[in-house]
Amino acid sequence: MRIAPEAPRGRARVDPASVDAVLTDTRGRAMRDLRISVTDRCTFRCVYCMPKDVYGRGHAFLPRSDVLSFEEITRVARVAVAHGIEKIRLTGGEPLLRRDLPVLVEQLSALTTPVGHPVDLAMTTNGALLARHAARLHEAGLRRVTVSLDSLDDATFMAMNDVGFPVAKVLRGIDAAREAGLGPVKVNMVVKRGHNDQDIVPMARHFAGTGVVLRFIEYMDVGTTNGWRLEHVVPSAEVVERIDAVMPLEPVAPQYPGETSSRWRYRDGSGEIGVISSVTQAFCHACTRARISTDGTLFTCLFATGGHDLRGLIRGGASDAELADAMSGIWRGRTDRYSEARGAAEPLGAPGHRIEMSYIGG
Ligand code: SAM
Ligand code: SF4
Ligand code: SF4
Repeated sequence: MRIAPEAPRGRARVDPASVDAVLTDTRGRAMRDLRISVTDRCTFRCVYCMPKDVYGRGHAFLPRSDVLSFEEITRVARVAVAHGIEKIRLTGGEPLLRRDLPVLVEQLSALTTPVGHPVDLAMTTNGALLARHAARLHEAGLRRVTVSLDSLDDATFMAMNDVGFPVAKVLRGIDAAREAGLGPVKVNMVVKRGHNDQDIVPMARHFAGTGVVLRFIEYMDVGTTNGWRLEHVVPSAEVVERIDAVMPLEPVAPQYPGETSSRWRYRDGSGEIGVISSVTQAFCHACTRARISTDGTLFTCLFATGGHDLRGLIRGGASDAELADAMSGIWRGRTDRYSEARGAAEPLGAPGHRIEMSYIGG
């Protein structure tokens, strides 16, 4: 697929001769979702993501000159949208630390797919600054937010975010998001055995009947710094069992093929939950996700050991058409299936070089 070099800011103009070809990788997977990391910085030090002993005072975050500007991000996104991206999620690090984020949201929300649909624009945040920014983000065109919250108990949550951040402020952020119309709000809880698994049922009880969709994420071996061990993973099947024992559940059919979260609803009608089984039930076969790191590197897998430098292309003067060709070449050659290979106990590559979640965007 080619993009006309003079493509306007909104709709990505596509060469009609190449529209028929849906861009797919070596396993027939289309490129549909784009996660954009807008900063590698965060004020939390979640033990499973940015452990303090690695991300302490001496840690070198990216210098400003390496970080993609809003215009550069929007340009990459526009090209990606012309290639089939329908959903864009802003992430990080903590996306709300990026100054003037609503300006970027405005630019991205103006993008439309080749058939004229608006891009589905969402954000994942730790919620710390959400109460302050929710209304403005919604005004700028953000549709939905996912807020990460690992416990309702201050001692447990503070131990997990490792900076003593209280639960109440995240709950205020969730309320502000709902009031602003950024719903349905999803809440992500990473479950780490021995750390917060005692909070599975209290979290389910708290959010049942509120319209908030709580999702339990299996603790992943992403990156190399979090000291991941299999015994820390609570399989999704166990999460469902524990909740079902006190609040009976039934499965919900997936909304679309390849949905990463499997959905369950309370039999009494008080809403639904999701479980994301990245470890025990890999969904690589249906993985349509690309990621752009804060410094403009394109990654085709969360567990990649290397990426593709789009910033170099952009700053080297590449045209939109050249950028589009580079992107399609990368996606066509994609073979990633890390989580499936992990399940099959196949060799997993060199873990020492894996990319960290806070850099690539979760
Ligand atoms: N700072 C934002 C936040 O926490 O929501 C956005 C970035 S964070 C890297 C994105 C998501 O990845 C969060 O929901 C977080 O809980 C999740 N995450 C980080 N490390 C993880 C790990 N090792 N296993 C599973 N999920 C993880
Ligand atoms: Fe920060 Fe999010 Fe990582 Fe926690 S999970 S350290 S909030 S980037
Ligand atoms: Fe996608 Fe890679 Fe995760 Fe598999 S391991 S689901 S290919 S990001």
